[in-house]
Parts: sequence; C-alpha cells; structure tokens
Amino acid sequence: MKAVEVIDDLKRRFPNEPEYIQAVEEVLTTIEDVYNENPEFERYNLIDRLCIPDRIFAFRVSWVDDKGKVQNNMGYRVQHNNAIGPYKGGIRFHSSVNLSILKFLAFEQTFKNSLTTLAMGGAKGGSDFSPRGKSDMEVMRFCQAFINELWRQIGPDTDVPAGDIGVGGREVGYMYGQYKKMAREFTGTFTGKGLEFGGSKIRPEATGYGNVYFLLEMLKTRGIDISGKRVAISGSGNVATYTAEKLLSLGAKVVSMSDSDGSIYVPDGLTREQLDYIFKLKNIYRGRIREFAEEYDCQYFEGERPWQRVACEIAMPSATQNEIDGDDARALIANGCIAVSEGANMPSTPDAIREFQKARILYAPGKAANAGGVSVSGLEMAQNSQKLSWTEEEVDNKLKQIMSDIHTQCVKYGTEADGYINYVKGANVAGFMKVARAMMAQGVL
Ligand code: NDP
Repeated sequence: MKAVEVIDDLKRRFPNEPEYIQAVEEVLTTIEDVYNENPEFERYNLIDRLCIPDRIFAFRVSWVDDKGKVQNNMGYRVQHNNAIGPYKGGIRFHSSVNLSILKFLAFEQTFKNSLTTLAMGGAKGGSDFSPRGKSDMEVMRFCQAFINELWRQIGPDTDVPAGDIGVGGREVGYMYGQYKKMAREFTGTFTGKGLEFGGSKIRPEATGYGNVYFLLEMLKTRGIDISGKRVAISGSGNVATYTAEKLLSLGAKVVSMSDSDGSIYVPDGLTREQLDYIFKLKNIYRGRIREFAEEYDCQYFEGERPWQRVACEIAMPSATQNEIDGDDARALIANGCIAVSEGANMPSTPDAIREFQKARILYAPGKAANAGGVSVSGLEMAQNSQKLSWTEEEVDNKLKQIMSDIHTQCVKYGTEADGYINYVKGANVAGFMKVARAMMAQGVL
C-alpha cells in the first residue's frame, strides 16, 4: 500500500470532504510501514475497506418550531466499522455538521474504540440542527423527529449512539425516550443516559477526567508534576468543564476557557467558584463565556481562541476540529507550552502537529487522550446488559486503568529511536492492528 496513492484516490472519489481526507491521511501515513509488513492485508484490500464506511444513512428531519413553522434539517448516521463490536459513537448537533465531518469522526472513532480494549466498533451521527437559542420543547420535538427516522438502524447490539457537540444529557434523554417508544424495549441503546434510567456514574465526567489521566501518564514519562502548571483549555462544554474540574482538584491552574464567540484569560487560574459559575452558565442558563468575563471582570478576547495570547505549560483543546493551526502551535511553544493533550477530536491541523512533534513536546491526539468518554460508554453498555450499576469509585478506577493501558500501547508502538514518544503513530498503529486482524478473520464483507 502506498498511502499517497490511496489518499489521491479518495480525494478523487470524495472531492468535497476535506476533514475526512485529513483524518484518513493522518492514519495512513503513520500505519503504512506496519501495513506493508503484512502482505495478507493487501491481498484482502483491507485499506480501502477500512477507509470507506460500512454504510451511511442520510435523511430529512422535519419538525415544528414554537411559532408553528415547519423546519427541515438533515440527519445522518455513519456506521463505519463493526469488526470488533457493535457500532458506537456520538451524535453531534451543530450548524456546521456535514457528511465530511461525520465521516472523519466515525473513522477516528473506529481506531479510538479499538484502543479502549473494549468491544466497540466505530460510528458517528448528527444533524445540522443547532440547539443554541431553541426552547426545550423545540429541542425535544427535533430529537423525536430525528429518532423517528433513525430508530430502526440502532439497537443495543447493533449501534449505540451517545452525545457529542450540542448533545448532552437533555438531548440523549429525549432521543432515548423516543427510541424506547418506537422500539418497545428498554435496553442500553444510548449511552450518556440519566442515572435514573441506566446511565453510568462518571459518564458525563469521563472524557475530561480521562484526558487529565492521560496527561498525567505523559507527564510521568518526563518526571513532571501537574501541580501549579498553567493550563489553557478551549471550549466550555462537557469535555472542557470536567477537564477543568479534575485539573483544579490536582492543583493545576486553568487560565483560559472559550466558546465559539471568544475566550477568557485568568492568569492566576480559575477558582472552584468561578468554574461552578461557568458550569451553570453553560448548562442551566445556556449563556456565553463573555458573561463570565463581565461577571468577574477578567480579560475577554472576542472572536479569539486561547492559543495566541496565553502563557501556559499545557494546552487541552476541547472544543472542535482544526482549532489549533500552525501559527497557534508556534505561539503556544514560544509561550512555554510543554504538553498538548486533545479533548476534542482532531483539534490540531497537520501543520500544528508537525510543529509540536518538531519541538519534541508531549503531544497526545484525541483518539488516545479523549477515549475516556467512549470507554465509560462501553462500561455503561456492560452495566446495562447485566442490569447492574457500579459505584463511582469502581467506574473511575476502571477509567484510570483504561487510560493507563492506552498510554502503554502508545509507548509500545510509538517510541522512536531517540526515545521520543510519537503518540500519533502509537495510537494509530495499536488501534489499526486490532481492527485489521478482526477484519481479516471475518473475511471479505
Ligand atoms: P459541547 O457541546 O458540550 O461543548 C462544545 C464546546 O466547544 C462549546 O463551548 C462550544 O461553544 C465550543 N465549540 C463548538 N463548536 C465550535 C466551533 N466551531 N468553534 C469554536 N468553538 C466551538 O461538546 P463536547 O464538550 O461534548 O465536545 C467537545 C469536543 O470533544 C468535540 O470535538 C467532541 O467531538 C469531543 N469529544 C466529546 C466527547 C464527549 O464525551 N462528549 C468524547 C470524545 C470527544 P458554543 O457554546 O459557542 O457552541
């Protein structure tokens, strides 16, 4: 396999899908050597079958807004690969959602889920519907209409969706409710459910906590203590807030957070009370991060991400894809950044990744660092099928162990001759090998 040729072919076949091509390119260029050491992979044309999703559902979602007007959105589910377990991956509601973004996310999810050591295939879904500015009833009607189309394609052993951008506990609750009504069954078909109806302890926290656990493993390789370190976080949603919470509990300083309108800068670090304010602002009042700056009289950079002006040792991008470009990466390094651990999926552009690796700083790609979320989703599925509920401590301990195992796999497959751990390569090779072997064993499907 020549990665360049496969990528050129995909570009020709899918010319308007830049995010998908970007994600595929990152994986193929790092697994090329390992792939070519296994000639049987090529005989089975494994790479083509792994790059192209098993199937994609696309549908119109029609719903009625509070003014009685009929609204139409697009809905999608990309079932990428189920070689090692049922399709599994979140649902994103955001105005930017399109097939390219969902295909990249489903592709990434396949390798991430493989890394977790749990039995989950890869999928992703979503809609260009944005919950921002919508009433609860509008969100509910949209979720119900979305599931009316999708429910036949998902199920506890078929495809298990969860949350992502714009889809939190509220949206999962509405979607699960409608699924339950249509399918006439109470099974673990969604994860991220409320605790009262099958949700797992620590699931809301899992992506953020898991990212911090992964960061601690990375820092350990260089004997660095997290306490007192300044951390810039982007986003102020699920992943960002629980990342911040765990960091504060470990004595680190969270100096920045953001939303799609701008970022705040708090050089001495957020207090617990301030973080609680952000939590309420985003989840209860559904407000903007600018309102935090007004409340606490701190610096606010309208329309800017945290990376250019903030002095920090650690960056944890936790908003969206391609939010750190080459210039941002150079600014971060110049301002003293020694570690980047990705809460979001593909937040760094290829240029930014090159800069981090060239500077030999610690750099963990999302598919390793943010795998804690889907890992606890996997634990939620296990609890649901046994009709059991584990304690917070049990789930947290399992999460820590999984993140440590993922780190070990990255070290095993990613350590370079000079001792530098290339986490991108490590995660891609480890994730790929398991899926590839399972696909080989199951024949051409
Ligand atoms: P949320 O919707 O809870 O929060 C998203 C945050 O990112 C918000 O602050 C939002 O700002 C900001 N944001 C979203 N889109 C953009 C954009 N285009 N530009 C700038 N800021 C933006 O989502 P999550 O916290 O769940 O997800 C964040 C990231 O983490 C995503 O990349 C997701 O794929 C990834 N992830 C999430 C997991 C989970 O368990 N939830 C698991 C693994 C990865 P605003 O409010 O202005 O829209």
